[in-house]
Amino acid sequence: MLNDSPGTCLRSAELRQRAQLRTPGGVHSNVRLSGAQDFIQRAKGAWLYSVDGRDFVDYLLGQGPNFLGHAPEAVVNAVFEACRNGVIFGGQHELEVQASELVCRTVGWAEMVRFGVSGTEAVQAALRLARAATGRTKVLRFEGHYHGWLDNVLTSPRDGHWGTASAGQLESHLDDFVVVPWNDPVQVAETLEQHRIAAVIMEPLMINAGVIEPKPGYLEEVRRLCTEFGAVLIFDEVISGFRLGLGGAAERYGVTPDLATYGKALAGGFPVSALVGRSELMSRFGTGEVNHSGTFNSSVMATAAVTAALTSLLEDPPYERIAKHSRSLIVGLRDLGVEFGLPLRVQGVPAAFHVSFGDADVSDYRSLQQLDLARYERLAKSLVEHGIWVTGRGVWYVSASHGGDELDAALTRFEAALRDGAGR
Ligand code: PMP
Repeated sequence: MLNDSPGTCLRSAELRQRAQLRTPGGVHSNVRLSGAQDFIQRAKGAWLYSVDGRDFVDYLLGQGPNFLGHAPEAVVNAVFEACRNGVIFGGQHELEVQASELVCRTVGWAEMVRFGVSGTEAVQAALRLARAATGRTKVLRFEGHYHGWLDNVLTSPRDGHWGTASAGQLESHLDDFVVVPWNDPVQVAETLEQHRIAAVIMEPLMINAGVIEPKPGYLEEVRRLCTEFGAVLIFDEVISGFRLGLGGAAERYGVTPDLATYGKALAGGFPVSALVGRSELMSRFGTGEVNHSGTFNSSVMATAAVTAALTSLLEDPPYERIAKHSRSLIVGLRDLGVEFGLPLRVQGVPAAFHVSFGDADVSDYRSLQQLDLARYERLAKSLVEHGIWVTGRGVWYVSASHGGDELDAALTRFEAALRDGAGR
C-alpha cells in the first residue's frame, strides 16, 4: 500500500486540470464538488484504487449503490451476458418481468413496480401519483430529508424557512410543500388538520441528515394519521431500501407505506430506481391516467442488474456480516476517540452510520446542528489522505464486502490520521 500525500498525486492533478476545462467544476454531479481530489482507476470489493497508486478502504460506496461491494461478479456478469443480446428494445422483455416479480417479493408488501433510472425520478412519479389519487396538491415533507435535485424538492434552510437551494430554481415550485421538523407527530397531525395534504413523504430513517432513527411510535402515528386524513404515505427508501434488511426501513420499523421509492442498493451499483406500491394506486399508470415515462426505464442492463443483485441478497443475505463489521468498527472508532481525548460521536444503524463531534441529544435536523459538523468535515479530508474514502457529510456506509482486513485497515488508518493531529 502506497498512500502518498495528495501533493504527489501527479496523474490525478493532470486529470483534474483536464476535467475542469471540459466539465463545470470538473464533476458531473454537484454532490461531488466538495469530494476527494484523487481520480479513481478501479474498484473491487470494499476498495478503491487511484490512478496514482493509492488505495482507499471505501465507506462511501459511490454514495450508497455499492452495497454488495464494487463490481460484484454475479451482477456484472449477468449484465454483460444479457446485454450481448441487446441493450434496449423499446418493447417488453422477460428480464423486466423477472425483475418486477423479484422486487415485489423482496420488498414484501409491494404489489406493483415501475422502474426508472434515478431516485430523483422515482420520487417525482410517487408525488404525481399521490396527487392524482387524492385530487389534492399539497405535500408534507420534513426538514433535512433529501428527495432529489429537482425544483420542487430541493431545499435548504434560509432565513428561518426552507427555501430554494440553487440559483435558477423556481421558488414557486416549493409553494405546494409544507416543511416541518421530523420525529414530532404533533406537527404532522396539525398540518394534516390545517391543509388538504395529498402525500406525506419522508426518509423513514433520516440518513441524509445525521442517520437519525424515528422515535419509537413515530412512524406508526404518521401511518395512522395518513390513513385518517386520506393522505398517501410515501417512504423514500432510495438509501434505506435493501440496505437495512431485505424489506428496508418499512420492515425494520414494521410500518407499511402506500408508496415507496428505491434506488442505490437495488442493482449492485447500476443506475436503476423503482417506485413500488399497491396495485390500487399503481394501476393508474397502467390506464394511462397518470404519466410516467422514460426511454431508459427497465433497460436490459437495469433489469438484469436488479435480478442479479436481489438474487444475491436473497440467497446470501449480508446483513449479519455487515452488523458484525459495523459493530467492531464503531467500537474501534469510539475507543480511538477516547484515547485521543476527542468528543467523537457515532450514531445510526450498522449499514449506515453518522460520525461527528459533540454530545447533543439528536433527534431531528435542528438538533443535529448542535454537533460540530465542520470539525468532522475537516477530519474527513484527513481520513481520505490516510486512505479511508469518506465525505465530509459524516455518513459511513458498510457493504457486504467489508470484512476483517477492511476493519484492520480502517482502524489503523483512522488512528494514523488522529496521530497526525486530525480531529483537533
Ligand atoms: N431520495 C433520497 C433519500 C436520496 O438519498 C437520494 C440521493 N441521495 C435521492 C432521493 C435522489 O436519488 P438520485 O441521486 O439517484 O437521483
